[in-house]
Amino acid sequence: MFDVAVIGAGAAGMMCAAVAGQRGLSVVLVDHAERLAEKIRISGGGRCNFTNIGTTPANFLSANPHFCRSALAGYTPQDFLALLREHGVRWHEKHRGQLFCDDSSESIIEVLRTECERGGVKWRMPCRVDEVAGEEGGYVLATSTGTLRARKLVIATGGMAIPQLGATDFGLKLARQFGLKVIEPRPALVPLTFEPEAWRPFSELSGVALEVRLGTGAGKTRGEFLEDLLFTHRGLSGPAILQISSYWQPGEAIVLDLAPGRDLADELLAAKSGSRQQMHTVLAGLWPKRLADTWLAQGQGELAQARLADVPDRSLRALADRIHQWRLVPTGTAGYKKAEVMRGGVDTRGLDQKSMQAREVPGLYFIGETVDVTGWLGGYNFQWAWASGVACGRAL
Ligand SMILES: Cc1cc2nc3c(=O)[nH]c(=O)nc-3n(C[C@H](O)[C@H](O)[C@H](O)COP(=O)(O)OP(=O)(O)OC[C@H]3O[C@@H](n4cnc5c(N)ncnc54)[C@H](O)[C@@H]3O)c2cc1C
Repeated sequence: MFDVAVIGAGAAGMMCAAVAGQRGLSVVLVDHAERLAEKIRISGGGRCNFTNIGTTPANFLSANPHFCRSALAGYTPQDFLALLREHGVRWHEKHRGQLFCDDSSESIIEVLRTECERGGVKWRMPCRVDEVAGEEGGYVLATSTGTLRARKLVIATGGMAIPQLGATDFGLKLARQFGLKVIEPRPALVPLTFEPEAWRPFSELSGVALEVRLGTGAGKTRGEFLEDLLFTHRGLSGPAILQISSYWQPGEAIVLDLAPGRDLADELLAAKSGSRQQMHTVLAGLWPKRLADTWLAQGQGELAQARLADVPDRSLRALADRIHQWRLVPTGTAGYKKAEVMRGGVDTRGLDQKSMQAREVPGLYFIGETVDVTGWLGGYNFQWAWASGVACGRAL
């Protein structure tokens, strides 16, 4: 009989097991994977964007937006940096508060593994959990390596992104088994796709990147970002799209400003007088040439060869409007195979925000990505994994 069984030896599970073990609890960590913490390993292009120093609750989506506050306040990016310093891990800031390892993401895995060893955590890995049941005073797990018993059970099996790495909906199934509600899960931080025929002209732009401002939704569920956009064969990707994908609802439009921070109508009208420049040259001063040509070929073909001075003011204003407000309705996403995270998950209204314990099921806890708290791109998802893992580990 262990004090605690943690299912899922990823970011949140290892953090939680280490904290609980170092408090003197007997902890067993169970994972079905052959290799430890694959998502940490591949994250951030192999350098793990392990936190964001600007983390606030506003960087997370949830049906219950205040839920994450307590855990995030209880374990901050500075706390994680103190842990890395203790282990001699070096890092650098890349972009907007995003911190990456100087060497490789392996060093983060090593920190967590060492912290677990310090807490005397026992490993069961690879080990498949076939069944979980509650019993008097705890939980019993039927696994591929035998029966495990623990007084408390922590579910840290992550989300469904990248099933090819062993991601599963285990956490959601288990939540339902014990009567908890689940907010509908969907792929997030994921490229958006379009109807192939409508997208054909733009598919030739694959590889073109530019900074855009884009938004979707309204009111409390509105998302808006100023980030880089990337054209692909099937649709749009890049940080701008990954960010907005977490807010996008099927059937809704996304609106892109392809010349953010400028007033193109003013600029074009001011430059017009006597200008012999052709429109495709004018736009190529603003954008990659391939984008300028394709854009003008889409319904504005007659404009491409026209000289700026000859284009009526009305047409210039209309062109500027289209560039500042490109409205697109994606047909879908590239799915869990390409997503970085899952949005939705265990409904936090059924969990205690300080301990992550299910309100109605004593001794059952949910942490990390399995929970309906989804971070923006940029290190926020790991910060949630650390913070929710620590909150739970301290409360067990
Ligand atoms: C390609 C990619 C890049 C990413 N880069 C970043 C980044 O740079 N920064 C950032 O903040 N976030 C990043 N993320 C997101 C981040 O990896 C996750 O949000 C984070 O790992 C979630 O932590 P977790 O502990 O909840 O789940 P995970 O780390 O996914 O761990 C879950 C564990 O549970 C195990 N498991 C699953 N199902 C079962 C089961 N049925 N039985 C037993 N074990 C099971 C899995 O094997 C895994 O070890 C990235 C994600 C991907 C896919």
